[in-house]
Order: sequence, then structure tokens, then C-alpha cells
Amino acid sequence: MVHNPQIDNDLGQPDTIAAIATPPGFGGIGVIRISGEKSLDLVYLLTGLRPEPRRAVLCKFYDRHGDVVDEGIALYFPSPCSYTGEAVCELQCHGAPVVLNLVMQRLVELGARIAQPGEYTKRAFLNGKLDLSQAEAVADLINSSTEAAAKSAMRSLDGEFSAQVDSIIQRLVKLRVYVEAAIDFPEEEIDFLDDRKLMNQITDISTMLDHLLFRTAAGRLLRDGVSTAIAGLPNAGKSSLMNRLLGEDRVIVTPQAGTTRDTVDAHIDINGLAVRFIDTAGLRSSSDAVESQGISRAWDAINAADISLYVIDSSLGVTDDDRKNLRQLDPSTTVLVWNKIDLTGQIDPSPIDEFYCEAFVSALRGDGIEQIHSAIAAIFGFDADNTESTFIARRRHIAAIKSAHRFVDSAFHALDEQKAGELASQDLRDAMMELGKITQVPSSDELLGEIFSSFCIGK
Ligand code: GDP
Repeated sequence: MVHNPQIDNDLGQPDTIAAIATPPGFGGIGVIRISGEKSLDLVYLLTGLRPEPRRAVLCKFYDRHGDVVDEGIALYFPSPCSYTGEAVCELQCHGAPVVLNLVMQRLVELGARIAQPGEYTKRAFLNGKLDLSQAEAVADLINSSTEAAAKSAMRSLDGEFSAQVDSIIQRLVKLRVYVEAAIDFPEEEIDFLDDRKLMNQITDISTMLDHLLFRTAAGRLLRDGVSTAIAGLPNAGKSSLMNRLLGEDRVIVTPQAGTTRDTVDAHIDINGLAVRFIDTAGLRSSSDAVESQGISRAWDAINAADISLYVIDSSLGVTDDDRKNLRQLDPSTTVLVWNKIDLTGQIDPSPIDEFYCEAFVSALRGDGIEQIHSAIAAIFGFDADNTESTFIARRRHIAAIKSAHRFVDSAFHALDEQKAGELASQDLRDAMMELGKITQVPSSDELLGEIFSSFCIGK
């Protein structure tokens, strides 16, 4: 009953794509998604049925010989009321990789192309179903490693983040129109340069950008997590501490100094924040070539990390080597960890004043580990119980908001100090352009490709 069709090659039209949308492996059901003009034809050729829009229909899936490969459900979402905005069909098959592959193989024989990673979301974006930050939120939602990250990705996907960005852009537009009108029609005698209302509006926008930055910076932490380097002299207890923080023996602990010769990397969830710990080689001067290489890599890891835990063996106290190392660390992003308090019993106050963030622990017994959790949260001002207003965000969003902020401040100064309307107008325009980068079509295909290539196939 099923014949081999000739699907027309569409010139200039996006082709019809298909992919398995469920994760690899065995499951109760496995979903194949098809998007594009030929979706319904392909389903007809595969099943002999044309599903009614948004009605589940039970059908058989046939191979090229007319043999039944599987039985399942087919659904049809006509354009534009679908995820991609195109005609979309979903096939719910049994969740066995071999079955899904046979159905996929048949769809490809019938003329479908296997979708690239993120291609459905890219089409949704290009068809105006989502803006760019919402499209990114789809990937972030799928990849989120903590509940708080998933919720904040959902808020961005819902458009809350985009709406805030757009409302600031709208305010910038109004301001610019006003400033330009005043420049173009000086005879109207709008003395805009002395207009406090105007200055107040710029200040308001600056404050709005501050708030947005605060919410997105917390979102960046939720998305990317905090990278934390564990540093200190050999034998201070770095590996023991990492094992204790991770709650399992991931790193080899030995009493012989200098055994952690390379950086080791692992993640945990501390109150909703994904924290990545990087164990590093002991930071002592060494004549051993391999160890020296490890030490130089350790410094690279420490410099690249968001924060450092500097571990001191409290039974030995602060040595000259410790002081030398500490001079190279940023006190505002370093936690001094006094380890082995089981040996010292008593906790001495820190003799190193500028390092205000401290924890007193025994990696061996597990005492004081929660102090490290609080110290990490304190350094970032991160409140795990209060992420309701956080937007999931990427570095590029934060860069755009910061840059917009600089332009808005510059517009303020241009008006306030120089009374230079043209300069202010240009700054406001640049601020708009920066914010526009968050939600609108990027100017280069490269960025678009980069954003969507991070998606999984089938999304
Ligand atoms: P690293 O070289 O800094 O990674 O240090 P390790 O984690 O390998 O530990 C070096 C030695 O110190 C091992 O013998 C550990 O058992 C011991 N050690 C680590 N933490 C503690 C602690 O809190 N108390 C005591 N008494 N010994 C510890």
C-alpha cells in the first residue's frame, strides 16, 4: 500500500526535517518530530493516514516494503500553530532505538532531512515564534542542572526577561525621540538640556539596568555554576577537602606531598547553585619538572576560576610559602580554609586581615564544611531561597546590559555636563543597539550558528 514518492525539491523553501526528539536509549515511548511543508505528506506516505489537526490518531508505521515497523500515535500541528511555526507532525513510537531508527530511515527515504542540533528552535526563532533570548532559554531549560536553574530558564522562556529588555528599549526610544526633536527644532524652545524630568528619566533607565543586571548576574551563576579552585600547599588537605565537599572519593588522597599533579574537576549542587570544584597541584616551589608544570597549570586554573578556596594546614600555621601564595590571590574572591582543626582543637583567629572570608574545617572528620558553603554563597551574594526573580542568562546578555549601562551613563554626562544633545542621542542609540542584541536577530550568521549548535538534536 505504501509507494515510494517523489518529494519535490523546494527551491528556496526550507526543507522538511525530522529527528528523534527523545533521549537515546530505551523508553516507553520515543518521539520523532517532523517539521516543514511536506510533514503531513511524509506521515501519509509512512502510515497511509492523514491525521486531523491536533488529533491523536493510532496508526501503523510501514517500511519501504510495506512491512509494519511499529504501531503508535501520529499528531499534526498545522502552520503557524506549532513549535516551529511550520507544519509539524509528531510520531509517538515505542521507545526502542532500533524501531525509531527504522522509522527515521523511512522518513529519510521519503525525502526528509535529518535535523541539525537546535534546528527546530532555530526555525521557531526565524518564524518569529520565539525571540533570541527565549530560544536560548529552551537550551538552558533542557541543560539545567538544578531546580532553581530550570525555573529561571522557564521564566526567560516565558518571555519575562525579553519583556523587561524590550520595555527598557522602548523607554530609550522615547527619550531619543525627545532629545532629537529638541535638536532638530531649537526654535520650539524646549529647553531640554535643563529639563530635570529628562535627567530623571535617564537615571530611571540606569536603575532599571542595574536591577536587570543583578537578576541576570545571578542567572549566569545558575546557568554556568561557580568554578571554585582548591589551592594550597602540598599536604594541606586539598584532595581530602574536595572529596569531603563532593561526598565521595573522587580524588586520590595520600600522605605523600605533591601527588595531585594535575587539576581534577567535579561538580556539586550547593543549595541550588552548581559549584564546580577544581583540585589543583600543591603550590610550592619545586625543581621537579612534572610537578612545576602541574603548579603552573594550577595557577592558570586558579586565575580562571570564579573563586578560590585556599587551604591551610592549621596544625602548621601560615608558612612563608602560604604568604607568598596568598599575595597572588584576590582577597575578595578567596576563602581561607583552616583545615585539620581536629589536630589543633582550638581555632585561632586568622592572622591575615584582608582575607575576611574564612572557614574552619576538618576535611578528615567533616567538621565545618557548611561554613564553606556559606562562604561561597556570601562571596556571590547568592541567596538560594530567593531565586524567584532570577533570569537565566549568558555572558553575552550580561555584556550587552553592562555595555548599555555605560552608554546610558555617558548620555547622562553628555547632557548634564556638556549639554551636548547630539552626543547624548548617539549614546542612547548605542544603548538601544546593545540591548537589541539580547533579543533580536544577530548581525552575523556565525553567532546564530553558535547559539543553536549548542542544542541537542530534536530540539
Ligand atoms: P593535598 O596534598 O593538599 O591534596 O592533601 P591530602 O588531601 O592528600 O591530605 C594530606 C594528608 O593530610 C593525608 O594524610 C590526609 O589524610 C591528611 N588530612 C587531610 N585533611 C585532614 C584533616 O582535616 N585532619 C587531619 N588530621 N588530617 C588530614
